[in-house]
Amino acid sequence: MSDVLVIGGGIIGLLTARELCMAGADVTLLERGELARESSWAGGGILSPLYPWRYPDSITRLASWSQQAYAELCEDLYESTGIDPEYLQSGLLIEAPGERSRALYWSALHRHMLLPVNAERIAEMEPEHKQPPKEAVWMPGIAQVRNPRLARALALDAMQRGVHIRTQTPALNLKISNNRILGIPTAAGKFSATTVVLCAGAWTGELSQILPTPADIRPVRGQMLLFKGKPDTIHHMMLEENRYIIPRKDGRILFGSTLEETGFDKSTTKAARTELEQLAIQRFPVLKDFPVERHWAGLRPAAPAGVPYIARHPQIDNLFINAGHYRNGVVLGPASARLLGDLLLHRKPIVDPAPYTMDAARG
Ligand SMILES: Cc1cc2nc3c(=O)[nH]c(=O)nc-3n(C[C@H](O)[C@H](O)[C@H](O)COP(=O)(O)OP(=O)(O)OC[C@H]3O[C@@H](n4cnc5c(N)ncnc54)[C@H](O)[C@@H]3O)c2cc1C
Repeated sequence: MSDVLVIGGGIIGLLTARELCMAGADVTLLERGELARESSWAGGGILSPLYPWRYPDSITRLASWSQQAYAELCEDLYESTGIDPEYLQSGLLIEAPGERSRALYWSALHRHMLLPVNAERIAEMEPEHKQPPKEAVWMPGIAQVRNPRLARALALDAMQRGVHIRTQTPALNLKISNNRILGIPTAAGKFSATTVVLCAGAWTGELSQILPTPADIRPVRGQMLLFKGKPDTIHHMMLEENRYIIPRKDGRILFGSTLEETGFDKSTTKAARTELEQLAIQRFPVLKDFPVERHWAGLRPAAPAGVPYIARHPQIDNLFINAGHYRNGVVLGPASARLLGDLLLHRKPIVDPAPYTMDAARG
């Protein structure tokens, strides 16, 4: 029997397993399919919430902690696994008409570098942008990671550290008695552990339905396009009207993403492809010279107001939840895993845990 059983092998489950393993726990991780092939694969890897000033402080605190930790985490993973998560501080330009004062106030309060820029400056920064907005804010410190590579590095690192990983092993249910999880039935038999941590992303809501207090998490579909571009065509990440562009180191360019309430339907649609492709080319006509290499969809795990559950379950003594990170699981992941570890191991928490409890008011 392990000390801890983590259910779900996305970025959140892998980071949680790593955190607990590094603290000396014997950890088993159950993954329904292959590791990190769901939202954690589909995401864009921007290491900041979009329009960060619109979020509650509970998100800013986790994001800020992770942003400080990310470069070192990626270096450590590269060194231990040979897989480069491609941490790249490419900065983020955000068009936000009418929100400049609010953004500046937020940046002063939380000490994030954020500068107003005009159309002329944007045109200098992104010569290929054919309709630069009149004004935007520029966050030079914002980085990105190549999330599928980050996840592969995390998976290999976890294996090297001795985490027992069982893929193709869905948790079928939670067996509960006397306010404790007694075991997790799977097709390969029952798994037991002193403590269980639910990190099943968008599926956490379903899995927790049996609990006296279930997690309120729903799937929100996001579709994304990948252009096979050339390096140095577009230099910075840029967000306009909820659609963003992310230039990768090797020249590939992501454009996304949609926000769709379609339940667990993960299919892509022609309408979204057309909309994304047209919009991307309208902003950056150079993209019409590059083929669309891939079009995909993923399911974001949406807790109310996007504030994740990072907590011990209020009624089930040996159950913890780390899920519901919605649009920000990549950026919030390291802080979220660390906080979960703090709570489980009775360490001093890195931030006040109150906003992330199961019964905290969310938005
Ligand atoms: C299009 C798109 C763009 C995004 N862009 C960004 C971004 O730029 N920056 C950012 O920070 N975030 C972004 N996100 C959000 C981010 O990807 C998610 O918040 C994050 O990946 C959630 O991680 P997770 O591990 O909780 O979920 P997932 O990656 O979905 O992992 C959950 C895992 O649990 C497994 N599972 C489910 N049920 C069971 C079960 N019963 N038994 C065992 N295993 C189970 C699943 O198979 C899955 O592997 C984006 C998401 C999308 C879809």
